[in-house]
Amino acid sequence: MTTSPVAEPAAKLDFVTRKPLPPEQLDTLSRDILALKKKLNAVILAHNYQLPEIQDVADFVGDSLGLSQQAAKTSADVIVFCGVHFMAETAKILNPDKIVILPDADAGCSLEASCPAPKLKALQETNPNFYTIAYINCSAEVKALCDVIVTSGNAVKIVNAAPKDRDILFVPDENLGSWVIEQTGRPMTLWKGNCYVHVEWTHASITRIRQQYPDAPLVAHPECTKAVRMLADEVCSTEKMVAYCKASPAKAIIIATESAMIHRLMKECPGKIFIPAPTDSCRCNECRFMKMNTLEKLHDCMLNLAPRIELPKHILERARQPIERMLEISARPVDNAG
Ligand code: SF4
Repeated sequence: MTTSPVAEPAAKLDFVTRKPLPPEQLDTLSRDILALKKKLNAVILAHNYQLPEIQDVADFVGDSLGLSQQAAKTSADVIVFCGVHFMAETAKILNPDKIVILPDADAGCSLEASCPAPKLKALQETNPNFYTIAYINCSAEVKALCDVIVTSGNAVKIVNAAPKDRDILFVPDENLGSWVIEQTGRPMTLWKGNCYVHVEWTHASITRIRQQYPDAPLVAHPECTKAVRMLADEVCSTEKMVAYCKASPAKAIIIATESAMIHRLMKECPGKIFIPAPTDSCRCNECRFMKMNTLEKLHDCMLNLAPRIELPKHILERARQPIERMLEISARPVDNAG
């Protein structure tokens, strides 16, 4: 039996890992945060996977590439980074003289954890011809060992621009890496890491939702496994998802990425219905690390200017090079990227 997607209510965002704030507290906290922002001359950058109430007080909401670009050009004195730890580190690397704070310093990432710098260094030493390309989801120490950084939004362009005489080592996401190999035809050695959220979708769970909503296209993030990507109408970064959904004539669209993305999509594409892709067994489409940041913690970190990102000078300087290379290649016109 099929179900008409247009008969369904808009996706309801009920996040498992938090109790909703009472409306009065939400209003007071949001007002206080905006007042602190003015007082500190701060900019609030929020990733697409942050809680809706955090997205709503941010100056900029986007994917890792957009957030890095914003961090690189900000004139604010304080950068408040609502995302996970490696993202705030990236902002600090680009702004070593600014104060960079984040709501919860323990907000990690399964991809980052899969690739410790000493292990990467040991692998690099097995082949002096390796050209190491790191997905931005890695620590500052790992970035400092790499030639260039990528995000899901620019990985294809940057791999296409890699020197042809080098052997590419791509870390730490094997799923993004295998998708980039499919797009570029460039062989790469892949690190065996993955995003614990995006690997929860399966061929079976996606097939079921597609049968239920046969008219709804499926958009999937490249961190999903190949078994899921092959069922998708579009595989792209979260920022490109916004453009795809705006341009699509479909009234309902199935989204296979972290659940908070739907808040952004509902704001940017009013009138459309977004269906969170289900997993087989659980509400695993919510990143527990991203959801460690709350509006209360955001308020407190601005009040106390802590937790603060601090990095050794040699890491700051070395890690800056591959990030700047990424930003430079990203800004090139497509036919001049190689
Ligand atoms: S969604 Fe996955 S890749 Fe993103 S921060 Fe969470 S664990 Fe890391």
